[in-house]
Amino acid sequence: MSRTSLAKKTFSSIKGKAQNALHRSLDQQVKLAVTGLSGSGKTAFITALVKHLTTQASDKNLPFFDVVREQRHIATKVVPQEALKVPTFDYARAVNALLPDDGMPCWPASTQRINTLRLAIKYQSNAGLRGHFSAQSTLYLDIIDYPGEWLLDLPMLEQNYTQWCELQYPLLTEYPRVNSSAEFLAAVNQLDLNAPVDENALARIAELYQTMLVGLKKDTKLAMLQPGRMLMPGDLQGAPLLLFFPIASEQITTEVVAGSNLAHLIKRFNAYVKEVVKPFYNEHFRHFDRQIVLVDVLSALNEGHETLQEQSSVINQLLAHFSYGESGFFKRLFKPNIDKILFAANKSDHIAAKHHKDLALLLNSLVHEQSNELKFDGVQIETMAMSSISATQPRQVSDKGHTLECIYGKPLNEADWLTYLPPQPPSRMLNKHEWPAQKFEFLAFAPMPSPDKQLKHIRLDHVLQYLLGDKLA
Ligand code: GDP
Repeated sequence: MSRTSLAKKTFSSIKGKAQNALHRSLDQQVKLAVTGLSGSGKTAFITALVKHLTTQASDKNLPFFDVVREQRHIATKVVPQEALKVPTFDYARAVNALLPDDGMPCWPASTQRINTLRLAIKYQSNAGLRGHFSAQSTLYLDIIDYPGEWLLDLPMLEQNYTQWCELQYPLLTEYPRVNSSAEFLAAVNQLDLNAPVDENALARIAELYQTMLVGLKKDTKLAMLQPGRMLMPGDLQGAPLLLFFPIASEQITTEVVAGSNLAHLIKRFNAYVKEVVKPFYNEHFRHFDRQIVLVDVLSALNEGHETLQEQSSVINQLLAHFSYGESGFFKRLFKPNIDKILFAANKSDHIAAKHHKDLALLLNSLVHEQSNELKFDGVQIETMAMSSISATQPRQVSDKGHTLECIYGKPLNEADWLTYLPPQPPSRMLNKHEWPAQKFEFLAFAPMPSPDKQLKHIRLDHVLQYLLGDKLA
C-alpha cells in the first residue's frame, strides 16, 4: 500500500471513529416525570404523547414542536425500559381503549401506582445540519408516571408525628372535611392513648380514617389528604405502617408510655416516612430531569372555592420544597436534577377555545406565589392550558343575533351527543365572596370515535416543545 493511500485510510478511520464518538455523545437520556392527582389525566397524557410521537408526528399535527416542524424527526418507537423493577406503562391497552377496532371508545383505566415507558426518539440534530457530518441522534425518553398523591407526602419528610397532627387534625373540624369526619373523630376521642396498644382498635380507626380520606377525595376533590398512600396504596394496602392517623396534638405527651397506643402511632408514622416516603424520593424523584404536573382546574372549579384554594396552597407548598437554593431542605436531602417544571391545566377541550387563555391565567395565579423564587433558583416554571386528547369539537351557534362559541361532544355516561355552551372560567383566583352564586358546572366528555385512528389534542405540541425542545435541538 502506498504511503498516500495508507495516510488516507488512517485519516478516514480516525474520522469515522470521531463521528461515531460524536454520535454517541449526541445520544441523550431524559427522565420526564408525569404527575397530578388521580383523575388529572396522566394516563391520557402519556398515551397521547406516545401515540403522537410514534405514529402522528407530522408538522400539521405538531406544528409548535420544532423537531417535527423542521422535519428533523426521523422516527420514535417504544423500546425496553432500563428500570427493571418498575411496572411498564400499558400503552397498548390504553390506546386500544381510545381507538378500538370496533365499538365505542372509552377512557383507559387511571394510574394507581408508578409506571414507566421508554421511547427512543431518532432525529437529525441541528448541529448535524450545520456541520459537515450527518448527526443522527437518539433521545431516550423515560416517562415516569406516578400518583400526585405520593408527591403530596413530601412535606411529611420535614415533620414529626406531633407536627403532622398539628396541621392535619384541626382541618378535620373545619368545612368541608367536618361533613365527613364525625365517625372518625368520635372513635379517636374514645381511644385511650396511654393504654397498652390495642392493634385492633388502631386498625379499625385507621380504616375509618382511610374511608374518610377516600370519600373526601371522591366527593370534594380536596388535595391535601395525607398520607397519600392511603388514597393510592399500591401494594401497601393493609400493611401496619399505613395504619396510623392524626390525633389532637394537645394529647401528645412528651413522656410517651412505651408500648402504648400513642407509642405505636408515632412508630408507624416514623416508619411510613422512613420506609415509604423517603425511598420514593431517593429511588425515583431525585433522578427526574423534567416534571409535568397535570392539574384538573376545571373539576376543582366545579367543586367550589375551598377545593380550588386548597389546590393552590398544595401547589405552593410543593414548590416551596422544590426550592433549590443551596440551603433548601430538599436540595440538601436529595440533590434533585429537575430544571424545568410545567404545570398544565388539562382538559381544556371542556371549554370554548376563546377561554383557554383564562384557564392558563387562572392556573398561573394559583402557582404564582412561589414561581418567581424558583426562577431565581435556576428552575424554569411554566403554566399552560392544554388537552392531551380532545373529546369535543368547537361549534358556533347563532342566538338572537349573537354567535355563541359552543362545544359538541358526548357527555360522559350519557347516551346523547350535545352542543353545549360551557361557562367561562375565571382568569384569576376568586375570593369566596366573588364566587358565582350559580357555581361552575363544566361537563366531562367521552372520547370521540376516530375512524382514521388518530387522536386530537390541544397544545400538546407546545407542551412537548417546552419539555423536550432543547434536548432535540
Ligand atoms: P390519571 O388518574 O391521572 O391517570 O387520569 P386519567 O388519564 O385516567 O384521566 C382521568 C379522566 O379524565 C379520564 O377518564 C377522562 O374522563 C378525563 N381526561 C383525561 N385527559 C383528558 C383530556 O385530555 N381531555 C378530556 N376531555 N378528558 C380527559
